[in-house]
Amino acid sequence: MSKKVLAFIDAKDGKFKNPALEVLTEANKLASLLNTESIALVIGNNSEESSKSFGNYGIKNVHYIDLTKLNSISGKSNFSYSHSAFSKVISEFAKANDCNIILLSANSLGKDLAPRVAVNLSASYCPDCTAIKIDGDKLVATRPLFAGKSIADLLLKNESKVITLRPNVFKVEKLTDEEATVISVDPVSLGITESDFSVIVNDVVISSGKLDVAEADRIVSGGRGLRSQENFNLIEELAEVLGAATGASRAVVDAGWRPHSEQVGQTGKTVSPSLYIACGISGAIQHLAGMSSSKCIVAINKDKDAPIFQIADYGIVGDVFDVLPALTKEIKSVVSS
Ligand code: FAD
Repeated sequence: MSKKVLAFIDAKDGKFKNPALEVLTEANKLASLLNTESIALVIGNNSEESSKSFGNYGIKNVHYIDLTKLNSISGKSNFSYSHSAFSKVISEFAKANDCNIILLSANSLGKDLAPRVAVNLSASYCPDCTAIKIDGDKLVATRPLFAGKSIADLLLKNESKVITLRPNVFKVEKLTDEEATVISVDPVSLGITESDFSVIVNDVVISSGKLDVAEADRIVSGGRGLRSQENFNLIEELAEVLGAATGASRAVVDAGWRPHSEQVGQTGKTVSPSLYIACGISGAIQHLAGMSSSKCIVAINKDKDAPIFQIADYGIVGDVFDVLPALTKEIKSVVSS
């Protein structure tokens, strides 16, 4: 039997976001292909009980580290995150538990931790992976390159392999109603000491409880075609009836109309929702880099030659100020009927 596959999950108040379930499902699939076991490592708050649900995705053993206990080793209080300590926890846990494939979500935490874990383990590393194949005894991970213009298959040759999964690309598969066994892990047993907290994040400001664009299943995005900050109420109204997150092009973020947390693209977030509605966005290559793997793309633009139409599944050539209110009204009436 090969070494184990490890799924790393972060949790807050017993809640797990969809990308976490994607990581669990993929870890279980890989382990089946390799005829080995998949296990999960959770660092979280108040999430021990709810981690049992990982059994639904084929994970039998979940190892749980209480965040407050971990942070207490630092000797400081009132902070939420330390990349130096978290990455050491994952690396030491992987070594102690004989795991050679480590999967994380390519969310902001995963992007921060995975390269550090890869360095600690001298591992092969594939960030932002969109597919994993086992080819004989080789593991091949696919990732988009050059703003999505090309796709690379990476052969991960080192014994240890660290991979981050692009959110919303991998399917979540609930397999059973069985619960996992949750094992509490003392971070001290992994050799974590005060000196591992060389950098700590003191404060994280969460923007008004809105859906995070990187994790949303539906996104309504606005560009410079909206003409002003105030007109984004049209984007917000459509997003609300669809239960969608709001996104933005860099042009409107640079103009200060929308926060950077909403920016989609090469220097913003990478998204792969089921539905992406681009309103008044031209479709510059740097924007496409962040959203071209969306499953269904709808574009609204008054210029029929706008590049966004080349990748759209549905295109509406029209003025956003006419189309958006009509679309919102129509969807509202369908939803409420
Ligand atoms: P524009 O290109 O100005 O397009 C506005 C569109 O709205 C036009 O197609 C127009 O026809 C349409 N329009 C106008 N009025 C209406 C109306 N009333 N109704 C309907 N349609 C209308 N961009 C990103 O988005 N994300 C990134 O992460 C990003 N990273 C970058 C990184 C680098 C290094 C560089 C150089 C650029 C980056 N950009 C990024 C910027 C990118 O090149 C474009 O400038 C930007 O995406 C354009 O935004 P836009 O489509 O909103 O504006």
